[in-house]
Amino acid sequence: MKKILITGGMGFIGSNLIEQLLENSNYYIINIDKMSYAANRDFAKKIVKNKRHLHLKIDIFNLKKLSQVFEKYNPKEIIHLAAETHVDNSIIGSSNFINSNIIGTYNMLECSRKLFLKQKNKGSFKFIHVSTDEVFGDLKKNEKTFTENSKYKPSSPYSASKASSDHLVRAWQRTYNLPTIISNCSNNYGPRQHKEKLIPVIIHNALRGKPIPIFDKGQQIRDWLFVEDHVEALLCILEKGKIGETYNIGSNNEIKNIDLVKLICNELELRLTNDTNKKYNLKSLITFVKDRPGHDFRYSINNNKIKKELGWRPKMNFKKGIKKTVDWYYKEIKFAKNK
Ligand code: NAD
Repeated sequence: MKKILITGGMGFIGSNLIEQLLENSNYYIINIDKMSYAANRDFAKKIVKNKRHLHLKIDIFNLKKLSQVFEKYNPKEIIHLAAETHVDNSIIGSSNFINSNIIGTYNMLECSRKLFLKQKNKGSFKFIHVSTDEVFGDLKKNEKTFTENSKYKPSSPYSASKASSDHLVRAWQRTYNLPTIISNCSNNYGPRQHKEKLIPVIIHNALRGKPIPIFDKGQQIRDWLFVEDHVEALLCILEKGKIGETYNIGSNNEIKNIDLVKLICNELELRLTNDTNKKYNLKSLITFVKDRPGHDFRYSINNNKIKKELGWRPKMNFKKGIKKTVDWYYKEIKFAKNK
């Protein structure tokens, strides 16, 4: 059985990746996740007994413990997702972002480099670094989309820490020939995202009749990708990606935040009316709040390279993906209320 090391596998994207690997592959998964507040405890409980999955509660900032894992398990394939990910948190306090995203990635690279040096069959080694399109900064309304050659211009402590980690990965590839690949992905949505993020906040607050806080007037534009499509892109990169390359991942679903909130409110109103026979106006809960400092205006990904060179394509239609996502949270919140 092939082994794969995944970091951050209890988080939003990592848990969707692990679920997919357990269903559709023969990999034995070593999942390093320190179980920060962002880790999904329900998912952890669900997979604790799976014989093809091993959770190691380790902080990637801890080089000694991380080295022991590399020595003991000898992974040849690595997908590195562990990171602090919430921009608002990075503005309030950036030190965790520097420790996990920069030093943590440096530790992952050093452990991988040492292990790679010992490999007889160097061709089978691969380190995929999962990054974000936020490293490119933001775009004006009509500016061209981000390509793999766009300049790095991060705006927040979060995106700057991810940009730094990308630079380290690129340098370890150029200098030490470590077989790395970087992916830069747009905003993900789907099941199991932490409730601090925009879509879960909208759903949780709307269903509890609480104000739905929207920065500024909600004019910012994001390019949304269904999490399962991201997972498929990562597996496609693992299988066919070229060492030393970077791939942008996105699915050309640009929408203003305010329009996204209204779309989700409409979906929730339909479900609530269906369940209770009453009418709802959840859009009245939308509350505009003071803008976040350094708030990026627009992200937009050009995904031509991964489509052309690796044959990946996003499968999920945006409206269907939103319906599926709303269904998931709606059931989860209803179930939690009934417990
Ligand atoms: P998340 O915040 O939901 O989960 C992160 C996971 O990593 C958590 O389970 C946490 O416990 C773990 N973790 C954090 N720091 C750690 C450390 N020091 N040691 C060990 N484990 C640690 O994040 P996510 O949204 O699933 O994002 C995963 C990766 O994908 C991140 O690298 C992020 O930058 C990138 N990304 C996310 C998006 C998105 O829209 N969510 C888009 C593009 C790229």
